[in-house]
Amino acid sequence: MIPLKGDVECDCLVVGAGWMGLHAARRYAELEPEASVILVDAGRIGNNASGRCMGFAIDLAHNPRKHDFVEDVQGNLDELNANLEGNAYLRSAVQEHGVDCDWDPQGKYHSAATDHGVADLISFSKALDRMGQSYRWVEKDEIRSITGSKHYIRALHHPGTILLQPAKYLKNAARVLPKNVTVHENAAITGVQYGSPRHVFETASSTIRPKKVIICTAGHLTKFGYYPNTAIPVYTFASMTRPLTESELAQAGTHSAYGLIPADSFGTTVRRTIDNRLFLRNVYSYANDFEMTRAQVMDTRKHQQVAFDRRWPGLSKIGFEASWGGLLTLAQNGGMVFGQLADNVFGAAFCNGTGVSRGTAFGKAVAELAAGRSSPTIEILKRKVPPSRAYPKLITSLGVRFVTGRRFKKAGNEV
Ligand SMILES: Cc1cc2nc3c(=O)[nH]c(=O)nc-3n(C[C@H](O)[C@H](O)[C@H](O)COP(=O)(O)OP(=O)(O)OC[C@H]3O[C@@H](n4cnc5c(N)ncnc54)[C@H](O)[C@@H]3O)c2cc1C
Repeated sequence: MIPLKGDVECDCLVVGAGWMGLHAARRYAELEPEASVILVDAGRIGNNASGRCMGFAIDLAHNPRKHDFVEDVQGNLDELNANLEGNAYLRSAVQEHGVDCDWDPQGKYHSAATDHGVADLISFSKALDRMGQSYRWVEKDEIRSITGSKHYIRALHHPGTILLQPAKYLKNAARVLPKNVTVHENAAITGVQYGSPRHVFETASSTIRPKKVIICTAGHLTKFGYYPNTAIPVYTFASMTRPLTESELAQAGTHSAYGLIPADSFGTTVRRTIDNRLFLRNVYSYANDFEMTRAQVMDTRKHQQVAFDRRWPGLSKIGFEASWGGLLTLAQNGGMVFGQLADNVFGAAFCNGTGVSRGTAFGKAVAELAAGRSSPTIEILKRKVPPSRAYPKLITSLGVRFVTGRRFKKAGNEV
């Protein structure tokens, strides 16, 4: 990637290169091939929450926390349609631009290990029935055979989700962006002056003067002067084994790759990857100033180890090769940022946990809006409620710690 130095002008600056920003840059450049587009990120592409995620590109998320999840047919359909557009855009990167990312459209298994988990799945199946969605119940023997784990007692397979290697996707997709996009990594925006005909964005080594800007920096969007005090920064954590040996693989089930979503949202998400690793995610934790220390990451590893012990007691002594965390941005009211924020300023942020398909759809749609286009997805996303102000930091952090701790405990063996 090209180092960013001195004074540069461009037609459109996109800030943040996660699912949202990368696809906003791609779409804007596709629609405006004569425009110069700059995409900057504070870090390396793929080393953000987007690249650290579990790689489920989810068409329809199971959200048992939403009190009206089963009844809200229109809301769920809107969500589904936006996510499908996101998935179609991801697919076009793979099929038309050759983006290698271990693309695997096998769907996801919503898996229960407890009676309360099964009850959650039954309520999810009712929502799917109302939406006319197809799915399949997977009984105990089958889910145990697929995963090699005696932990699970029932599952529901929902097609439509795509499994992918997120960091690989993002890095490879950045390489095949349209020719009119220039990408700069390690280029944090440190100062902003909005203006006309050009805004002024400062980095440590340069000044960027764009006519238009699209801000896709997740919770950090609040530091760009919009929606102050709304972002609730929460981390979630994952650990991954080394590749399993032939004999170890015999214990990891009959399917060479799979993705399991926990029936209880505070349970453990699991993947067996195409390169034969087991990959587990759990724990939500309030992130002071949007950051986590290495010590905190290693502290949560013990919860991924407990989940590993429960699922594969014969394998779990191998432990993990790597552990990490990543930022999710939540709002008190579940709101999200999408649209025009001021003259020639656009933004998309706050994925609330499921950002692969949704983030891609948001990024694509916000670029279309910035380029003066309209689409059904833009209309759907414009209807999303914006994030509300959070309670003062002390109350929010204590509240998040209390609720996540209690929900984690209640999830029991789903963890
Ligand atoms: C462990 C884990 C597992 C997950 N699993 C899944 C999953 O399987 N499926 C799913 O859909 N979601 C999953 N998620 C959630 C998903 O990763 C997020 O919702 C998604 O990454 C949000 O995308 P984004 O583009 O909005 O933000 P980010 O990925 O956070 O990107 C924002 C970017 O903005 C940049 N930035 C911030 N400030 C500045 C600045 N001042 N200047 C320049 N750049 C800046 C950051 O460096 C960052 O790269 C998971 C998350 C984690 C942590």
